Amino acid sequence: MITTTFNAIPGASSFARQITDGYQWLRFDTELEGPYRQQQAQLAYSRIRIQWMVFFVIALLSMVIDLLWLPDDSCRINWVIRLTGLGLPALAVVLASFWNRFAQMISSIAFISAIIIVLALASTWLLPLSQQLVTPVAPLFILTFFIWFFAELSFRQAIIAGLLLSSVTLVGRLVVGDVIAWDVQNLILLTLANVLAAVAAYQLEYGKRTTYLKAGLLNELAERDGMSGLYNRRMLESHLARIWRQAMRDDVSLAVALVDVDYFKAFNEHYGHQKGDDVIRQVAVALAGAEKRPFDMVARYSGQCFAVVWYASQRQMVESLAETLRGEVKELGIRHALSCIDRCLTVSVGVSITRPEERHSVRELLDLAEVALDQAKDDGRDAIKIRHLDC
Ligand code: GH3
Ligand code: MG
Repeated sequence: MITTTFNAIPGASSFARQITDGYQWLRFDTELEGPYRQQQAQLAYSRIRIQWMVFFVIALLSMVIDLLWLPDDSCRINWVIRLTGLGLPALAVVLASFWNRFAQMISSIAFISAIIIVLALASTWLLPLSQQLVTPVAPLFILTFFIWFFAELSFRQAIIAGLLLSSVTLVGRLVVGDVIAWDVQNLILLTLANVLAAVAAYQLEYGKRTTYLKAGLLNELAERDGMSGLYNRRMLESHLARIWRQAMRDDVSLAVALVDVDYFKAFNEHYGHQKGDDVIRQVAVALAGAEKRPFDMVARYSGQCFAVVWYASQRQMVESLAETLRGEVKELGIRHALSCIDRCLTVSVGVSITRPEERHSVRELLDLAEVALDQAKDDGRDAIKIRHLDC
């Protein structure tokens, strides 16, 4: 219901649109994918250090196990591989997590480290084979678990690392020696563990993305008017307060237009309140296109009155923009049998414009727009009146 309303306003909610379109392939539209990844990178950055530190300690412990388990010769080479292939990449991620400048690329660093670790571990598993030793498979399962849930890799990165682990181990095993039933059994189990982890990781990332969209939508709900989907008055006022100061710094003008439906009370009485609500939504959609620049805003000011803010637009430009708004509502062609001026629904527009200065305020600009709107009504409606704050 909410998403439908937002979708009516062009570009009003990318969150609502994404919820409607779905994201089964774990990818949002470009507009949302970037910010989502940025947010995830920040969250990952706060967790990654401790998780990779634990992994680093596990890599060191595995060296101790090698000491007890393997004969001297193979132990030495295992030590070297574990230290350089497992320890150093893990240490690199931990160190990178201390530098803010790596915050945005931490996931890529973790991915590269994970690939090196996968190759290193697969090779340590193969080495003792040439010496007719049965090697423990538990490290492969521990690494699988780490890749999918603790390394802070994206779902796609984890798939690559997981597949690489299974395939390198299998191919390596085939190349190095005779594959025995014990190997086949373990490699099948490793592949199954990857599939299981992939399903769980998919659900996890899907859930994270859903939470992101819902949080975004809730934020918008706090900022927007439920019926029209436009920004609400609270947002309008806080936006005006912000750009008032900005306009002072930039020494540019600021204009506010109040757009009020003519004879709307009569419309409601004649066609019913429900139809009146539909009209508010239709007018909102027609006005929504008035946001031309980043600081422009269209909001629902009250009942059937809308506000449009234009930043850095000269009087002539504002006049033609207001004229366009009036024309666009008329072009909707909504029949209004009780209007005294036209057979279609019309609006009156009151505009105030100023080059913001310390001695004036946003309140004065809004009050003047209301005065201009009253004048447009007094002039017979379906009209535009523009007032300058200094005049
Ligand atoms: P004017 O031409 O002077 O603007 O006359 P008007 O009848 O439009 O009067 P006014 O602007 O004061 O509009 C008030 C009416 O707007 C009262 C109410 O029926 C209607 N209205 C306000 N909010 C809503 C709303 O959310 N839904 C509906 N359907 N009507 C609303
Ligand atoms: Mg009205």
